[in-house]
Amino acid sequence: MDLPEIRKKISLLQKERSLLENKLMQNRAKMEAGSLFQIYIACRKGNCKCTHGEKHGPFLYLSQKVDGKLKQRYAGKKNDEPTVKKVRVYMQYQDKLAALRKIYGKIDTLFNQYREILIERGGNQ
Ligand SMILES: [Zn+2]
Repeated sequence: MDLPEIRKKISLLQKERSLLENKLMQNRAKMEAGSLFQIYIACRKGNCKCTHGEKHGPFLYLSQKVDGKLKQRYAGKKNDEPTVKKVRVYMQYQDKLAALRKIYGKIDTLFNQYREILIERGGNQ
Protein backbone atom coordinates (compact mmCIF):
# COMPACT_ATOMS: atom_id res chain seq x y z
CA MET A 1 0.00 0.00 0.00
CA ASP A 2 1.19 3.51 -0.72
CA LEU A 3 0.54 6.69 1.25
CA PRO A 4 -2.49 7.94 -0.74
CA GLU A 5 -4.10 4.50 -0.43
CA ILE A 6 -3.53 4.46 3.32
CA ARG A 7 -4.90 7.99 3.69
CA LYS A 8 -8.01 7.00 1.73
CA LYS A 9 -8.57 3.92 3.91
CA ILE A 10 -8.09 5.91 7.11
CA SER A 11 -10.53 8.53 5.92
CA LEU A 12 -13.19 5.89 5.16
CA LEU A 13 -12.67 4.27 8.55
CA GLN A 14 -12.98 7.66 10.26
CA LYS A 15 -16.41 8.09 8.70
CA GLU A 16 -17.44 4.61 9.77
CA ARG A 17 -16.09 5.28 13.26
CA SER A 18 -17.93 8.57 13.53
CA LEU A 19 -21.24 6.99 12.52
CA LEU A 20 -20.86 4.27 15.13
CA GLU A 21 -19.79 6.70 17.84
CA ASN A 22 -22.83 8.88 17.13
CA LYS A 23 -25.14 5.89 17.29
CA LEU A 24 -23.67 4.95 20.66
CA MET A 25 -24.00 8.51 21.96
CA GLN A 26 -27.60 8.79 20.78
CA ASN A 27 -28.60 5.75 22.75
CA ARG A 28 -31.04 6.71 25.52
CA ALA A 29 -32.75 3.38 26.01
CA LYS A 30 -32.45 1.80 29.44
CA MET A 31 -30.28 -1.26 29.57
CA GLU A 32 -29.40 -4.11 31.82
CA ALA A 33 -26.16 -6.09 31.62
CA GLY A 34 -26.54 -9.69 30.56
CA SER A 35 -26.86 -11.92 27.57
CA LEU A 36 -29.67 -13.82 25.95
CA PHE A 37 -29.46 -17.13 24.20
CA GLN A 38 -31.67 -19.97 23.07
CA ILE A 39 -31.46 -23.51 24.28
CA TYR A 40 -32.99 -26.83 23.31
CA ILE A 41 -33.84 -29.36 25.97
CA ALA A 42 -34.33 -33.10 26.03
CA CYS A 43 -36.84 -34.26 28.66
CA ARG A 44 -36.07 -37.92 27.86
CA LYS A 45 -39.54 -39.00 28.99
CA GLY A 46 -40.83 -42.27 27.62
CA ASN A 47 -41.01 -42.26 23.86
CA CYS A 48 -40.89 -38.45 23.51
CA LYS A 49 -39.58 -37.06 20.21
CA CYS A 50 -36.54 -35.70 22.07
CA THR A 51 -35.35 -39.24 22.81
CA HIS A 52 -34.97 -39.55 19.02
CA GLY A 53 -32.89 -36.40 18.76
CA GLU A 54 -35.68 -33.86 18.18
CA LYS A 55 -35.23 -31.65 21.24
CA HIS A 56 -37.75 -29.19 22.74
CA GLY A 57 -37.32 -25.51 22.14
CA PRO A 58 -35.93 -23.06 21.44
CA PHE A 59 -36.34 -21.58 24.91
CA LEU A 60 -35.12 -18.11 25.70
CA TYR A 61 -32.50 -18.02 28.45
CA LEU A 62 -30.91 -15.14 30.22
CA SER A 63 -27.41 -15.06 31.64
CA GLN A 64 -26.78 -12.35 34.22
CA LYS A 65 -24.58 -11.66 37.19
CA VAL A 66 -26.53 -11.90 40.43
CA ASP A 67 -24.57 -10.92 43.55
CA GLY A 68 -21.35 -11.25 41.55
CA LYS A 69 -22.15 -14.74 40.31
CA LEU A 70 -23.13 -15.60 36.76
CA LYS A 71 -26.60 -17.13 36.74
CA GLN A 72 -28.65 -18.54 33.91
CA ARG A 73 -32.41 -18.83 33.92
CA TYR A 74 -35.40 -19.24 31.66
CA ALA A 75 -36.59 -15.80 30.54
CA GLY A 76 -39.58 -16.58 28.35
CA LYS A 77 -42.29 -15.55 30.83
CA LYS A 78 -44.47 -12.50 30.26
CA ASN A 79 -42.99 -10.67 33.26
CA ASP A 80 -39.47 -11.23 31.89
CA GLU A 81 -40.21 -8.99 28.89
CA PRO A 82 -39.00 -5.66 30.39
CA THR A 83 -35.72 -7.27 31.45
CA VAL A 84 -35.30 -9.04 28.10
CA LYS A 85 -35.86 -5.73 26.30
CA LYS A 86 -33.20 -3.95 28.38
CA VAL A 87 -30.73 -6.80 27.93
CA ARG A 88 -31.27 -6.67 24.15
CA VAL A 89 -30.39 -2.96 24.23
CA TYR A 90 -27.26 -3.83 26.20
CA MET A 91 -26.27 -6.58 23.75
CA GLN A 92 -26.72 -4.27 20.77
CA TYR A 93 -24.65 -1.61 22.50
CA GLN A 94 -21.92 -4.16 23.19
CA ASP A 95 -21.94 -5.28 19.54
CA LYS A 96 -21.52 -1.72 18.32
CA LEU A 97 -18.75 -1.15 20.83
CA ALA A 98 -16.95 -4.27 19.61
CA ALA A 99 -17.28 -3.07 16.01
CA LEU A 100 -15.90 0.30 17.07
CA ARG A 101 -12.86 -1.33 18.71
CA LYS A 102 -12.20 -3.22 15.47
CA ILE A 103 -12.20 0.08 13.58
CA TYR A 104 -9.84 1.66 16.14
CA GLY A 105 -7.51 -1.31 15.63
CA LYS A 106 -7.61 -0.99 11.84
CA ILE A 107 -6.90 2.74 12.02
CA ASP A 108 -4.02 2.08 14.39
CA THR A 109 -2.56 -0.53 12.02
CA LEU A 110 -2.85 1.86 9.07
CA PHE A 111 -1.11 4.69 10.94
CA ASN A 112 1.71 2.27 11.81
CA GLN A 113 2.05 1.33 8.14
CA TYR A 114 2.01 5.00 7.23
CA ARG A 115 4.83 5.66 9.70
CA GLU A 116 6.86 2.69 8.40
CA ILE A 117 6.66 3.99 4.84
CA LEU A 118 7.86 7.42 5.97
CA ILE A 119 10.70 5.80 7.95
CA GLU A 120 11.74 3.77 4.87
CA ARG A 121 11.79 6.92 2.79
CA GLY A 122 13.80 8.75 5.42
CA GLY A 123 16.42 5.98 5.44
CA ASN A 124 16.89 6.06 1.68
CA GLN A 125 17.93 9.64 1.50
ZN1 LIG B 1 -39.09 -34.63 25.37
